[in-house]
Amino acid sequence: MAFPTLFLSHGSPMLAIEDSPARAFLKSYGQTLGKPRAIVIASAHFETGRPSVSGDEKPAMIYDFRGFPDALYRIVYPAPGEPAAAVKVAGLLEAAGFAPAVVRDRGYDHGTWVPLSLLYPAADVPVVQLSVQPHLGAAHHLAVGRALASLKNEDILVIGSGTASHNLHEFFRGRYQVDAETPAWVSAFDAWVREKAEAGAVDDLVNYRDRAPHARENHPTEEHFLPFHVAFGAAGEGAKGQRVHSSHDHGVLTMDAYAFC
Ligand code: ZN
Repeated sequence: MAFPTLFLSHGSPMLAIEDSPARAFLKSYGQTLGKPRAIVIASAHFETGRPSVSGDEKPAMIYDFRGFPDALYRIVYPAPGEPAAAVKVAGLLEAAGFAPAVVRDRGYDHGTWVPLSLLYPAADVPVVQLSVQPHLGAAHHLAVGRALASLKNEDILVIGSGTASHNLHEFFRGRYQVDAETPAWVSAFDAWVREKAEAGAVDDLVNYRDRAPHARENHPTEEHFLPFHVAFGAAGEGAKGQRVHSSHDHGVLTMDAYAFC
């Protein structure tokens, strides 16, 4: 059975330790999915000039955030890497016309370890991280995903880890409380993404910056939404998305998750 490909919203690192609907979802969803042979995860926090794949056997941890509780800096996600899978991913990208790099000494950033520590807490599935190139936009990331479309048939789970709406300026300015109502500019964007994902509307999703309502307010920069395009692309031609979770953090961070197949 082929795995779906996933877009997961990781939101704030507090997701790892603080109960929330998104956290409860991830903890149960891993059990629903079953265990793949390996995971390839495109993280919003792994930005490079060209597609890069982590090729370490035992990736270290990266605590790429500041000012959070000590407990977060003590979390270790000990899943192994899988150099052979990294080489395979790079080969698929190369065959599709990209110039990928396999990089070493690239630990797990929190876009990888926060969701995976909830999805597969046993840390017994090897993980390969894939970078994003925010300056190259959505079409590029859809194509990167497409290059990896064969992986789902090989018992490999492809995940894009970002955040479905990610305006950190609004999040941090203190205007929205924990249980704040979701503002209209966020819910309109969320609804548009859901509709287009369910329709498998490739052209609209690739051009979301021009076509989605309030796209630039929901994503002032693109890196947290581009993993969505990687996951969508990796499901192959004609794929459609199903929204498998929806919630918000402080009203403005959309924690929606999608499965594509
Ligand atoms: Zn993030």
